[in-house]
Amino acid sequence: MRDATLVTTLGRDPEQNDGIVNPPIQRASTILFPTVDSLLAARPGPGVVNYGRYGTPTTFALEEAVATLEGAGGAVVVGSGKGAIVATMLALLQAGDHVLVADNVYHPTRQTTDGLMKRMGVASDYFDPLVPEQVRQKIRKETRVVYLESPGSLTFEITDVAAIAEIAHAHGALVVFDNTWATPLYFKPYEHGVDVTIHAATKYIGGHSDLMMGIVTSTAALHGRLRQGIQDLGMSVSPEDCWLALRAIRTLDVRLRRHMESGIEVAQWLQGRPEVARVLHPALPSDPGHALWKRDFKGASGLFGIVLNPASPAAVAAMLDDMELFGMGWSWGGYESLLIPTFPQKSRSATAWRPEGPCLRIHVGLEDPDDLTADLDAGFARLRAAS
Ligand SMILES: *Cc1c(COP(=O)(O)O)cnc(C)c1O
Repeated sequence: MRDATLVTTLGRDPEQNDGIVNPPIQRASTILFPTVDSLLAARPGPGVVNYGRYGTPTTFALEEAVATLEGAGGAVVVGSGKGAIVATMLALLQAGDHVLVADNVYHPTRQTTDGLMKRMGVASDYFDPLVPEQVRQKIRKETRVVYLESPGSLTFEITDVAAIAEIAHAHGALVVFDNTWATPLYFKPYEHGVDVTIHAATKYIGGHSDLMMGIVTSTAALHGRLRQGIQDLGMSVSPEDCWLALRAIRTLDVRLRRHMESGIEVAQWLQGRPEVARVLHPALPSDPGHALWKRDFKGASGLFGIVLNPASPAAVAAMLDDMELFGMGWSWGGYESLLIPTFPQKSRSATAWRPEGPCLRIHVGLEDPDDLTADLDAGFARLRAAS
């Protein structure tokens, strides 16, 4: 079955639920066992209802749905995307190990490698995600993980994941990939040599700006290790939140299509604007990452970047402060449009980022794209007036 069908069928079984279309929310702490033997024999594990902290059937329904959509061997939910990053690194790395990280990853990922993981005795290095050969040069015999995110956070470069995975695997390292931008629908990581994925389900999987959640998927071989790693940290996710995420997955395919179409439309409109130096969107044929994006991805989401021509901070603030439809705030992936200033140069150490002018990140939501370009048009008028 194809993804549009899978999102409507996975994780529910009306025949087992009095014909009710959606699965119930099952809350639990204590799980009762009928005999001493069954009580003592029960072990927490995938799909095993043992104690509330390890999940209930509501949790497992979501985990199974995401694992199936992504083509993974298993999935585990965590309380946030950042929690998924931390738990994965702690599960896969130990003191004396080394992790190689793409220079364009989500900034809090760098904070985890530079802070917590360093304190735990794990060394890290950053590499240029557009030069796979750098992985060959920087990989060490202690390197256990190569960590990627594509498109890059804030700057949206596309990485040749398969080329890097081949080098990593030849040196005995695992490939961890943050797939939040593309979701399990638009990038199939296990077809490109990835071993573990991270999702901020807070973004498109949740999709309505009302949920914090992370999901870690992996090959079947690594699933037990990751589930154990997350259990070791005592992390637990509310069944209500799992149910909300599962409910939102029903519309993930239609939402993403709209985000993609409107995003491309707004990106093309922005390309024609004199205030804009560059649009950072891999689905645009002029984008340097377009050929790789076309080779590897099944679609684009609604998040991309813009580099403006030189403008003062005050002029940018005049534009952003009075947007009508575009909100300003962290996160993205909800139904609403967002526009914020970004400073990618502050999140880099192995590569240079030399923008022509101020950088913005735009999330194109589910509004009518003509209303969005009208809002941007008025914003550019304020930018020019304040310049
Ligand atoms: C937001 C985000 C995260 C972290 O997710 P939270 O749920 O906010 O903790 C991780 N990776 C990427 C790419 C993100 O955009």
